[in-house]
Amino acid sequence: MALKKVAEKDAHLIFKELFRKYYRVADLILPQDLGLREIALQDFDGGYYIRHLAFENKSQLIEFITREHVPKDLYYSSAKYRDPGNSSMEGKGWIGSDLIFDIDADELPLCSSKIVEFRFCPKCGYVATNPNEKTCPQCNIELAKFRHVEPECISMAFDCLKELVDVIENDFGFADYRASFSGNRGFHLIVELQHPYDLLDSEMRREIVSYLVLDDVQKKFIKNVFVTELSRKGRKGVLSIIPRIVDGGIRRRIAKALLRKVPEHSKSYILGYVNEIDVSKAVEIVNILRSNLDEILNMVSIPVDAKVTIDLTHLVRVPNSINGKTGWRAYLIDDLSEFRLDELKVSIGNISETFRIEFIVSLPEIRVIDRAFKVKQDDILDLEYAYASYFIFKGVAKLIDVKR
Ligand SMILES: [Zn+2]
Repeated sequence: MALKKVAEKDAHLIFKELFRKYYRVADLILPQDLGLREIALQDFDGGYYIRHLAFENKSQLIEFITREHVPKDLYYSSAKYRDPGNSSMEGKGWIGSDLIFDIDADELPLCSSKIVEFRFCPKCGYVATNPNEKTCPQCNIELAKFRHVEPECISMAFDCLKELVDVIENDFGFADYRASFSGNRGFHLIVELQHPYDLLDSEMRREIVSYLVLDDVQKKFIKNVFVTELSRKGRKGVLSIIPRIVDGGIRRRIAKALLRKVPEHSKSYILGYVNEIDVSKAVEIVNILRSNLDEILNMVSIPVDAKVTIDLTHLVRVPNSINGKTGWRAYLIDDLSEFRLDELKVSIGNISETFRIEFIVSLPEIRVIDRAFKVKQDDILDLEYAYASYFIFKGVAKLIDVKR
């Protein structure tokens, strides 16, 4: 079959129409009080941001994004305003804000070795040899950045999301929340706060972050309790020191991590199923706790992005909208028990379509969703939407043909 190359502007149009078609039927997850929210979007054509939009209801919003400005990315404000469409922040009149959390796989300490990152020329495929290089020596244009995180790291980020939800429910008692995949490499948690909790200021939100992340001050305090005080109290103090699930708060979180370290015969005490324990077993638990304390505190730490949570005017990616960095659906997670990147769940296209793409640069071996890729510049592959869109929106491949 002769290769029929799709012109760049046609490729752009093909994806724009796919996005538009998706938004006509998308089940966008929006707050009940949509009329109080600022809507913002990145325009598919211009790449520029359009902010300070306001809509009374979902159908008005859908009308706007399918007729006038198809969005590459779509957001609503975590803040509620008296006049959300006002272009000055003072003029909007802040009423309160939801509590927003962002967990990114590439921020996880265990994932630093699983990130593939380089700069490249989107025109000729030149790959920068040092990180300070900003322009292509051949084309003299700005280099683009490719950043990829392996799927196993996204699974690790999901485990952190589960811990976050556990704390939000059990320690804070907030039950009105929605979790979603970001459509790239992380997760979002939107906690809808009712009055007066929505009035929490940035400082208070910063304290919530420090409780989740466990900053150095908190870690030092905890270590003091488990190490110094224990030495002072001696064997008799052992029982009052052991953290248990029934304790609640940070002690409950430490108990959960400790359960993974202690022998079977000590678990029922930590779980709170029994209230008595031999002193010898108690001493054993405390010794395990003390010698693994740094590791346990790292296990307990939930790496949320502080600046997202403390920002009272943060723009939240709309769950079930499309992430313009990948072309993937940032879908709502209904079942928090497990997460697996799923080609069909991130796809917006028709599953019978195949996208023929040509790589602009060579890539080292990487895994996208469930498949390994190792490609050379000019390689041509026929792929399903999710894989093709990933490479195209990350800028390392271009569309050649769509087979329907
Ligand atoms: Zn170049």
